[in-house]
Amino acid sequence: MDIEKASEIGFCFGVKRALKILEETIGEYGKVETLGPVVHNQQVVDRFSQLGARAVDRPDQITGSVAVIPSHGVSPDTLDELASRGLKVVDTTCPNVRRAQSAARDLSQAGVWVVIFGDPLHPEVKGILGWAGHKGMATLDSVSITHLHDLPARLGLLSQTTRNPAQYVAFVDSIASVVLSKIDELRIINTLCNITKRRQAAALELARKVSLMIVVGGRNSANTRCLAEMCSSTGTETHLVETAAEIEGDWLKGQRAIGVTTGTSIPDSVIGEVMLKLDGMNHRGQS
Ligand code: SF4
Repeated sequence: MDIEKASEIGFCFGVKRALKILEETIGEYGKVETLGPVVHNQQVVDRFSQLGARAVDRPDQITGSVAVIPSHGVSPDTLDELASRGLKVVDTTCPNVRRAQSAARDLSQAGVWVVIFGDPLHPEVKGILGWAGHKGMATLDSVSITHLHDLPARLGLLSQTTRNPAQYVAFVDSIASVVLSKIDELRIINTLCNITKRRQAAALELARKVSLMIVVGGRNSANTRCLAEMCSSTGTETHLVETAAEIEGDWLKGQRAIGVTTGTSIPDSVIGEVMLKLDGMNHRGQS
């Protein structure tokens, strides 16, 4: 049975950059605290915890002198709070997330009400909404916008960076078809991450070729869940796993080919373990 990796796999540019900055910061200051996990991968968080990076949930839990902003960014309120406490702030926000934050800020400053296509509970989305001065809302459901009692006269749409492009287009379409005749202005900004788009396209191409897809990534990672949904939508059996240990021999029975893709926070070591486990199961004839 063939086992094939997607052409785009492993850490993305934004995660590599964030981890490099974190490593340098630990090298310079020793112990640091990150606001939330620096990336959405427990193994990576554990490794950096051993090096001296402690993850905290809220700014008031920071007890040291150095605060590291994770790759998915934070709101300006949080940055202000950290600055007011006199902390050294090291910002690893991905430039693609920064672009979405700037778009939200610019729209809001221009008096446009901001709608973010994204999970309202995701830290990246909360941060972007903060950059809009909380003048807007985040949702994955267009109906919550089209059924608003008081539609703002000027609406701006943007997306969480890691969302599925086809779903964003459908979201924009369904809002535009209802609100365009009722409001003065509708602005649409493309804040999707190109790296995520390429990775999703590569995963889809592979999912259409194979009979089983293994998606490796954190269950709390938006881009990983999105990859798994897309692979599954092709009709190919798809399993999301966080580590090689979760792969079950039964999944390989009767399959003709296996494809492997990963979220953007997965280190090469975990990919290696997954490939080793699949190869071992394949050779032992558990397929
Ligand atoms: S997936 Fe895209 S937006 Fe997210 S950290 Fe990676 S490069 Fe940045």
